[in-house]
Amino acid sequence: MTKLSVVVPCYNEEAVIDSFDSEIRRVLDGLPVDYEVCYVDDGSKDGTLGRLRAIAAAHGDRTRYVSFSRNFGKEAGMLAGLRESTGDAVVIMDADLQHPPELIGKMLQLYGLGHDQVIARRNREGDKKVRSALSSLYYRAVNSWVDVELSDGVGDFRLLSRPAVDALLALPENNRFSKGLFSWIGFDTVTFDYQNAQREAGETKWKFGALLNYAMDGLISFNNRPLRLAIWTGGVLTALGALYTLWIVIGALIGGVQTPGYVTLVAIIVGLGGVQMTMLGLIGEYIGRIYYETKRRPHFLVKESHGVDPRTGEPQPMASVAERDGR
Ligand code: UDP
Ligand code: MG
Repeated sequence: MTKLSVVVPCYNEEAVIDSFDSEIRRVLDGLPVDYEVCYVDDGSKDGTLGRLRAIAAAHGDRTRYVSFSRNFGKEAGMLAGLRESTGDAVVIMDADLQHPPELIGKMLQLYGLGHDQVIARRNREGDKKVRSALSSLYYRAVNSWVDVELSDGVGDFRLLSRPAVDALLALPENNRFSKGLFSWIGFDTVTFDYQNAQREAGETKWKFGALLNYAMDGLISFNNRPLRLAIWTGGVLTALGALYTLWIVIGALIGGVQTPGYVTLVAIIVGLGGVQMTMLGLIGEYIGRIYYETKRRPHFLVKESHGVDPRTGEPQPMASVAERDGR
C-alpha cells in the first residue's frame, strides 16, 4: 500500500492545531493509504508544542514531530518536515485549514496516474482586492524576469513523489525560496484549482513588510538578470554622457564658451548618485547571499522530536519510538 506523509509547518497554531489534526486523520482514515503526519513546530511561543506532544501521545505510531529551538521560518519548517517524512508521497500543507484536507484524495488520484508533483492552485476569491491585484502584477513582472516559472495562487500546498522530495532535499542552499525550488526541480507536474478558504483560527504571520521581502527574494533568488540590468544601465548612461559632452563641446566651438548649467549639473550628480547607490545595493544583495551561503550553517536547530533523530534529522522507525516512550 502507498504510504503518504503529510508535512505541516506550525508557528503559533495552538488555536487551530487540534481541529486540524482530527480533520486530517478523519480524511486520511478514509483513503486507501498508509499514512503519517509530520509536524514541525517552528519555535512557537504559544502552546503548539504541548499540543503536538499530546497528539504524539495519542497517535504515536502515525505522528512525527520536530520542534525548533527558535523560529526559523516556514521554509526551514518545510525542509525539516520533508526530511522527517518516510512516505512514498508527501503532501505539504498549512496548519490553519486554509488548505482543505479533502483535496488529498484528488491529489492521490493524480499521483496514481504517474504525476510527481500535484499542485493545488487556489483562486483569489475572498482575498482583499488590493492584495490580489498586487500579486497578479508581481507575478507578471517576475515571470518575465526569472528563469523558473512562478505562478499566481500556487503556494506550498502540493503532493510530491519520493523522487521529487529527494531532489528537493539534495539542494543544499541556505536561502530557500521554495516556490522557485519546486519549479526548478521540474518532474511531471499537474495543477488543479480549488476554492480559497479563510483561516480557521489564529492569525496570519505575513505582515506587509515580510511580503515585500519575499517578493524581493523571488526576483533575486533565481537569476542574475538584475546584474545584467546594472551593466546595461551603466552602458546607456555612459553613451548619453558622451553624447551630451559632444553636444556641449560642439556648442562651445560654434557659439563660444557659456557657463550656465548649474541645474543640469545638480540633476546629473543626484541622478547618477541614485543609480549608483541602487546598483551597489543590488550587488550588495548578491554578495550578502554569498556571505550567508558560505557560512554553511544548518537550516534549523531541533530541540525536541518524536520519531526523528534530533541530531541527524533522520526518521526513526516508529516501533522503536513507541518502545522508548513506553507505549
Ligand atoms: N509558518 C511557519 N513558520 C513561520 C510562519 C508561518 O511554520 O515563521 C506556518 C504557519 O503555522 C502555517 C503556514 O506556515 O501553517 C502558513 O502561514 P500563514 O497561515 O500565517 O500564512 P498565510 O496563509 O496567511 O499565507
Ligand atoms: Mg494561512
